[in-house]
Amino acid sequence: MADHGWQVRVLDAATPGSGGSGNAAAILYPKLVSAELTPEHIQSQAFLHTLKVLEDPRLAPHFQASGVLWLQTRKQHVDIGPDHPWWQSQVWSLNAEEASAKAGVALHHPALWLPNAGLIHPEGLLASLLAHKNIELLTHHEVTEISPNHSGWHIQVQPGHQREPITLDAKHLVLAVAGGAQQLLATQHLPLKPVRGQITTLKRPLALKTTLCYGGYLTPGFHGQHVLGATFQPGRSDTSPCHQDQLANASALLDAVPSLTTQIGLHENVMSWSARASVRWQTPDYLPMVGWLPWPADYERLLSTRVASRPMPEEIQELPKIGISLGHGSKGFSQAWLAADLLCQALLAKPQAQHSDLQERLRPDRFLLKAWKRGQLRSTAP
Ligand SMILES: Cc1cc2nc3c(=O)[nH]c(=O)nc-3n(C[C@H](O)[C@H](O)[C@H](O)COP(=O)(O)OP(=O)(O)OC[C@H]3O[C@@H](n4cnc5c(N)ncnc54)[C@H](O)[C@@H]3O)c2cc1C
Repeated sequence: MADHGWQVRVLDAATPGSGGSGNAAAILYPKLVSAELTPEHIQSQAFLHTLKVLEDPRLAPHFQASGVLWLQTRKQHVDIGPDHPWWQSQVWSLNAEEASAKAGVALHHPALWLPNAGLIHPEGLLASLLAHKNIELLTHHEVTEISPNHSGWHIQVQPGHQREPITLDAKHLVLAVAGGAQQLLATQHLPLKPVRGQITTLKRPLALKTTLCYGGYLTPGFHGQHVLGATFQPGRSDTSPCHQDQLANASALLDAVPSLTTQIGLHENVMSWSARASVRWQTPDYLPMVGWLPWPADYERLLSTRVASRPMPEEIQELPKIGISLGHGSKGFSQAWLAADLLCQALLAKPQAQHSDLQERLRPDRFLLKAWKRGQLRSTAP
């Protein structure tokens, strides 16, 4: 939005990167899917789009295209061959010996090699993005309530350090607050589920030259450390690091790459490694929710007055719309750019043909409309 010329005020309850986006490294890589699915696959599109975005000289220093080796372990095997649209443009198949040469450490599995994938430095990237001349960043400003008013939005804010609450007005409002949306939007139709994840950081230098993915992952040295991740704990949103999760990260790595046992020093006290836990917020269909959502309190009320077989009430068009970029799950660092583009295009009223299918598939009211079509909304709405 700032790039398009809007004056943007960013309010963060803590600081940018205090939530899921604050790990020491984020891997930019696609989840590989079959040849037929790839052109339609949103995470694949998001990956290619993000590679382009990161060519911007402001952002490029925070991305290191050091590649990803996807180890073809028994559990993680992905069947990709010459019929795949990315074959030998984005993905190569290597035997264990070739993969070991790329990695700089001995590997016992064949691997898929993604040379254009790599590592993002979240701290640097966030700082560069927010240093925009059109952005004013207010840290430690928690939004406690939002409501539409005649010309946009009324926002109640609690600044930190025991200061008095303040109110702000804005013409447009976008919620990109991960699980924080549950308090701000009283609707059950933005179904966000927490998945806790803990990473371990290793300061000891290893010979590893590229990121290894094997269910878990280990990065090459990046800003002075290796990142070993990550646990995947659905249903949990607690963020205190714990000993068992350090062990789980270490043992997943050593199962997949036993040759690293000595280099890593498994026999050291694992608790001397530092750790960070945070939360991915996931939707039931694993796609983010992105777009301009009619204010849910009124939207649900209007829908509940009409059965799904009749046309939608016209008043819905008139409702104030709140921007949503939520539910990015494990792929926020690639999907966030597509999300921002979709939001801006709609605001600029320049719908682009290639995005209309995307807009439809990511629309934030898709779960609400499903409930309405099944008649569930009618019975539960007040
Ligand atoms: C262990 C782990 C490893 C991961 N690895 C990768 C990876 O390698 N690659 C990748 O692409 N993704 C990865 N992810 C996922 C990625 O981190 C998320 O998809 C991404 O961080 C989501 O970004 P977000 O901005 O939606 O949420 P967050 O980064 O959580 O940001 C939400 C922000 O909203 C603020 N906030 C909340 N409520 C309010 C409020 N009421 N008022 C004001 N501010 C508020 C918070 O303070 C926070 O700063 C990983 C996630 C985890 C947990």
